[in-house]
Amino acid sequence: MTNDKRAIFLDKDGTLIEDVPYNVDPDQMRLTVGVESLRQLHESGYLLIIISNQSGVARGYFPEAALEPVKQRSRELLAQFDIPLTDFYFCPHHPEGMVGKYAIDCHCRKPKPGLLLQAAHDYTIDLSQSWFIGDILNDVEAGRRAGCQTILLDNGNETEWIFSPDRIPHHVATDLSEAVDVIEGGRW
Ligand SMILES: [Mg+2]
Ligand SMILES: [Zn+2]
Repeated sequence: MTNDKRAIFLDKDGTLIEDVPYNVDPDQMRLTVGVESLRQLHESGYLLIIISNQSGVARGYFPEAALEPVKQRSRELLAQFDIPLTDFYFCPHHPEGMVGKYAIDCHCRKPKPGLLLQAAHDYTIDLSQSWFIGDILNDVEAGRRAGCQTILLDNGNETEWIFSPDRIPHHVATDLSEAVDVIEGGRW
């Protein structure tokens, strides 16, 4: 077995970090409730990887380089709890964007699974042994299309509830702590 690593893929806005739309100011980044419980998943051997749509780049709200401090702050916030962040993948695109090279219908913007597939390739991750935790059904769909187990944090951020077979979460949790219980409890 070479594909033996397991990962927890985490949406950023509204899942790991309190949602502040299009924010790239590190000083405004606050962890959500229950983040410290992710340490348990690290100790169980899971890689922790952020998977984030950042269409603010395509929309011209901020340059791609503005996401570097965001990555750095994400690492620092998690490091307070001795939780290492393995990587941070983002999609800068949007088909209706204003900034030429980013204004495309890409393969990496969730609900497409491109970023998860890229991460799985980069880190030889077994997606079937991995999980995606997010706060909207587009996260669930990206996770399912990549072949992961999925958990929806039902924290009020999903408002449209457009369902299809790929958009039904395997589990629903109220916060990250409960999501960790689901994963560690092996109740799937
Ligand atoms: Mg989100
Ligand atoms: Zn993209």
